[in-house]
Parts: sequence; C-alpha cells; structure tokens
Amino acid sequence: MMKHIAPDYYPQFRCIAGECRHNCCIGWEIDVDEDTLRYYQSLEGEMGERLRKNIDFSADPPHFILSENERCPFLNDRNLCDLILEKGEGALCQICDDHPRFYNDFSDHVEAGLGLCCEAAGRLIIGKKEKMQLICLEDGEEVPDAQEQALCDLRDTLMNIAQDRALSIDARMAQVLAHAGAALPQATMADWAQFLMQLEQMDPAWQGHLQQLHKQEIVWPDAAWDTAFEQLLCYFLYRHMPGALQDGCVGERVAFAVLSVQVIRALCGMREKVQIDDIVEISRMYSSEIEYSDENVDALLDALIQE
Ligand code: SF4
Repeated sequence: MMKHIAPDYYPQFRCIAGECRHNCCIGWEIDVDEDTLRYYQSLEGEMGERLRKNIDFSADPPHFILSENERCPFLNDRNLCDLILEKGEGALCQICDDHPRFYNDFSDHVEAGLGLCCEAAGRLIIGKKEKMQLICLEDGEEVPDAQEQALCDLRDTLMNIAQDRALSIDARMAQVLAHAGAALPQATMADWAQFLMQLEQMDPAWQGHLQQLHKQEIVWPDAAWDTAFEQLLCYFLYRHMPGALQDGCVGERVAFAVLSVQVIRALCGMREKVQIDDIVEISRMYSSEIEYSDENVDALLDALIQE
C-alpha cells in the first residue's frame, strides 16, 4: 500500500454542484479514459445511446462533445449531472470523478490536493484560519527516494516560513525566496500584467482585470488578509514544487508560487473593499487561466529562469 498525504482541509471538500457559479462542466474539454469508454460502449438502454452519441470517438483521447455554449451534454438545466442522477457517481469518467482533486506521485507516496480553479475548494483553502498541515490519509511502507525526500524537506521549511505569523506576508515571501536561493526578476506588476495579457486566455473578463492591473497603481490588501495569502502560498508551494523532480526547476517553481500570490494580491487590491469572495474568485480565475494551462505555466517558468 502506498502512503497518501494531503492538506488537512482535503477530506472536508464537497462539490456544491447546482450552486456553483463556475461549474467545471462548462468550458472545459472532458476526456474519457479507456476503462470508462469501454463501460460507456457496453452500457445498454437510453443512457448508453445518449453517451455514445455525445462522445467524439475519433478524437485522441475521445471526449464529450460540448454544446454550443460549451456545456457538457450531460449537465442539465439545473446544473446537475444527468449521468450521476441516473447511474450514480460510479458511472463518471476518471477526470469527472477526480476533479478538482490533483495528485503528485512520488516513489514512496502519493500527494493529493484540491485545485484552486474550483470555487468550493478555493473557499476551503483560502478561508482556513489555522495553519495548513499535511496529514496522512493512508500509511505505507515504501522507502523514500533521497532526492525526493530532500525536495519535500525543503518544501516543509519553505511552508514553515510561509506560516510564520510573526512576519508580514511580504517578509515571509522574501524569506521563502531567499531560503530557496531564488529571486523574482526586476519587474513591476504592470510589467507582469502585460506579460500575462500575451498568454493564452479563456475568459475575456481575465483580460479586463489584467488591463486594469496594467494601468492602476497597486494598493496591496490590508494585513488582515495575510492569512488568506499564506494559505495560497502554501497551496502553490505544495502543488508545484514536486514538478522540479522532472524539470529540475526548484528556484523557478518557488518564484512561480510567490509571483502567483503577488498577482492575486495585486488584483484583490483593486477591489474597493476586499472580501473573502473576491480572493476566492480572483484565485479561481488565476488558477483556471494560468495554473490549469501547461503552456501558460511553462511560459511563466521560462520568464522566471534563475541566473
Ligand atoms: S467547480 Fe467545484 S464546486 Fe463547482 S461543480 Fe466543479 S467540483 Fe463542484
């Protein structure tokens, strides 16, 4: 049995389905994994026929054919999934079953987390008052790999710095960068806004936020929100540092975590009076536009190359 680790808020996640303002069944291409495809192909009756009619089998990998307004064909007008209503959650394909959970695999353990692009997950992550801790969901007996262990130890240290509430969030981010031997390039938020405007975008509202960020003077949110940004910093470090085991970009990934928090903070600062809903919504948008696009993450990592 492989050990499973997750942030302590992980088990509390519940999808809010019909109440969700940015339902993940709208606007995203949903690929169907091979096992589920076999199940859908063998399913008899009306639902089986409907499934087969609404999957593009010629695509690689096959995926659901979205409607004109980019809705999943099984999302009904109450924003509930007909497939779940009729066949239960066990009938979902892997992506739908997992979302918004993500997994990072190590030789001796699996790390799970909740993605910020889901507003219910964002509310759990950002609204948490206590310091986030990693918990063991399942124990295992595999032996850790030395290089992986070194990265996890560095990440633990950086997350402890991020959670040092005796310091301001700015001081914590500066110490996180210094401890990792990383730095952000000399650039203003207006420069970053311009950079982000050139990347691939999904929602036109994102462009509007970036244009505002490009033009306006930054007013950083009040220190009362430092805990919310601490949770975001820990989220980005936890989720994105393991990628360095593949690409070796430890400093770039730490800088990416800090820059992501700074962009979200700067966008929140443009609101007249910051509310938790603003931080959740801006984080959701940042995550959907940047974090969930491999191309955009790579572009940022390239821009953050450490000398
Ligand atoms: S984005 Fe999150 S809360 Fe909304 S429908 Fe998807 S999983 Fe549920």
